[in-house]
Amino acid sequence: MLDLVLYNGHVLTQAASPIAGAVGVRAGRIAIVGATDDVMREAGGSTVRIDLAGRTLVPGFNDAHAHVWKIGHLLTSMLDIRGVRGLDDLGERMQRFGAKLADGAWLLGRGYNEAAMLERRAPTRADLDRAAPHRPVVLTRTCGHIAAVNSRALEAAGIGPDTPSPAGGIVDRDERGQPTGLLHETAIGLVTRVVPPPTSGDYEAMILAALSHQLALGITSSADCGVSPALLAVYRALDARGALPSRINVMPLRRVDGVADPVPLPERFASERLRVDTIKFLADGGLSGATAALSVDYRHARQRGVLRFDREELMALCRETHEAGWRIATHAIGDVAIDQVLDVYEGLGPHPRGLAHRIEHFGLPDASQLRRAAKQRVIAAPQAIFIRALGRNFREYLPDSLLPRTYPIRAMLDAGVRVALSSDAPVVEDDNPLAGMMAAITRRDSEGRAIAKEQAIHVDEALYAYTMGGAVASGDEENRGSIEVGKWADLAVLSNDPLSVPAETLPDIEVDVTLVGGQVAFER
Ligand SMILES: [Zn+2]
Repeated sequence: MLDLVLYNGHVLTQAASPIAGAVGVRAGRIAIVGATDDVMREAGGSTVRIDLAGRTLVPGFNDAHAHVWKIGHLLTSMLDIRGVRGLDDLGERMQRFGAKLADGAWLLGRGYNEAAMLERRAPTRADLDRAAPHRPVVLTRTCGHIAAVNSRALEAAGIGPDTPSPAGGIVDRDERGQPTGLLHETAIGLVTRVVPPPTSGDYEAMILAALSHQLALGITSSADCGVSPALLAVYRALDARGALPSRINVMPLRRVDGVADPVPLPERFASERLRVDTIKFLADGGLSGATAALSVDYRHARQRGVLRFDREELMALCRETHEAGWRIATHAIGDVAIDQVLDVYEGLGPHPRGLAHRIEHFGLPDASQLRRAAKQRVIAAPQAIFIRALGRNFREYLPDSLLPRTYPIRAMLDAGVRVALSSDAPVVEDDNPLAGMMAAITRRDSEGRAIAKEQAIHVDEALYAYTMGGAVASGDEENRGSIEVGKWADLAVLSNDPLSVPAETLPDIEVDVTLVGGQVAFER
């Protein structure tokens, strides 16, 4: 007997038979998929029935690359400055937020993007000192690869005119050699290591806030790409008490900014809700903040971004990780970083457990890098939503030679690279998978201007990449990603069929119900 049936629907299975009318669930897993009449014959007196009334059922979305705890940090105790319009707006937000903090407590914020600010420049220590002279302030840029800090924060970190830039990072200085308050890449660690860390209780609140936010978007599987040992311990504890409401692929870091030694490899682990079998590295920075490592100068500045590792160090850490049976996921956006990572992956040889490694973002690969990636069976986790959210930065910062191959998802698929679409939230504010699908199809930014339109993909490719793509990238395609017998009943009921609405209206589709393991986890 079935526990649950969802019937009278339009079921987009993402499997060999692409369309069905109903799904039956037993013990949290899909037991039957077929026509409504056939599935209803298996229902009994105690079977719960959900009438889809013609609505569309899809596999729960999989956000293959996100930063769950950071989404949750913004939802709980961090100042959200995504969308800040200029320095006055920023100062007002800081003062309002600071009024709620204890005297002298750190003010942490995230999300400014200078290209969207009136002054067209990042805030400096002087700007932040005006708004908050008495407490230390750290404002992370939207990309997470640059931070603006005030004088109190520089003082607390012991950063002065004589402080050298650490390897893989830059302490920005003015013409007199004084720190401007802007820290790039690993230099951010000089400050973050003196910020009081969140408690386990803080972390729990962040994780649970973020996962319930994702469930409302139909996301039943996501990733926390880059976690510390303390945060990993909180995930393990939540999982042990059955408190994770959805499935999460947690990727420990081996290099933490501001910490000298690599983090030892933790225990590999997989339960129904929690996976810990991928290690995250970062080879370079971000495009929108011009820290991704390019082979040519950025358009607006005579520099080529930052490589965070020298090749030998990345190779040594990756080799140890690979040989211990972990999957590796390396952030690589610029073409120079992509080359470094492909070289390292190539040097590792066959994986002891047969796994394929991942490249996160994969922002600017050229044709030969795409061929190499396909040959190595690399899984790519790009973010089409960057086109929409950060398109203006790309147009202003990227040289003409690179703009046409920005996040070339069409070319990735055509080369045979497996693609998992994702949001990288909170780097972008809008982590609705339907908005990500729209961006992959239209390639338009928020001003309606197209970027590399020939890199558009089809709506069914986008849906697959946001469901099965993520399952493949987390190495769990046997259990999730499609609506097939034996897989977990992780499902989203949509108000409309994404395959038949105009692409521009995809984000208007509502998620009516989200189910994880056959249990309703969100209802509108
Ligand atoms: Zn990321």
